[in-house]
Amino acid sequence: MTETSAAELARTDEGRACLEALLADPATALVAFDFDGTLSPIVADPASAVADPEAVAALGRLGHLVGTVAVITGRPARTAVELGGLDRVAGLEGMVVLGQYGIERWDAETGEFRIPPPPAEIDDVEAALPALLAELGLTGVQLEHKQRAIGLHTRRCADPAGAFRTLAEPVRQLAEQHGLGVEPGRNVLEIRPPGVDKGDALRALVEERGSRSVVFGGDDLGDLPAFHTARALREEGLTSLLVVSASAEEDALVQLADVVVDGPPGVAGWCSAVADLLEGRPA
Ligand SMILES: [Mg+2]
Repeated sequence: MTETSAAELARTDEGRACLEALLADPATALVAFDFDGTLSPIVADPASAVADPEAVAALGRLGHLVGTVAVITGRPARTAVELGGLDRVAGLEGMVVLGQYGIERWDAETGEFRIPPPPAEIDDVEAALPALLAELGLTGVQLEHKQRAIGLHTRRCADPAGAFRTLAEPVRQLAEQHGLGVEPGRNVLEIRPPGVDKGDALRALVEERGSRSVVFGGDDLGDLPAFHTARALREEGLTSLLVVSASAEEDALVQLADVVVDGPPGVAGWCSAVADLLEGRPA
């Protein structure tokens, strides 16, 4: 690869080392992305989010070329597959989707979903939320039931940031009463069982596939554990490259990034450029 192309695809030495390792031995490479905000543009109604077709197609190109491609998302696995059309994209025939931060799984190869039953506490919290929102005088908060989690979205409130601040502590207390935790995101609080995150999901997949070079891309606070895991893998002799899909709403990940791209179209361009390098590499 030329110096120029390497510099465009990774701004750090660690990122460039990962690219070199990926190009040298693509069979042991893992390329995994978050869904919302990374492969799919953020929209006001999370139920109508649709993947960027170019981003998914570019991931499909990599699917032909590297050992493993995956999506690691807070969404239910089935929702990500449907919204991404992931069962219809060329090159994704071997992909893995880890949903609900790794609790759920879809294997494209078999078409099989592995979905454990949801915890009863989630239903109890959902039943209590309308009264809490009424008590706080908040309108416009959108509840998203994700079976194992509940998202409270403030994007459609008159003052999204103000509503988020008003909700944070009461929601934390409600979750705690039911033995659940709260994960903050971009204009969203997510109530879910504690102790599962994308870092655990990424590590388990890396170990299962025997991956040696690991690319992970995300855009939001929920991706931080996976970023930390990917960096920790470097201490264990692996290489990793962190892609941040940047947006105006969240830049907390940018300081950890090996490359920053401009939203899902930027992810599409990055994946395509890596696929170009892989296809052009000497045999
Ligand atoms: Mg995201």
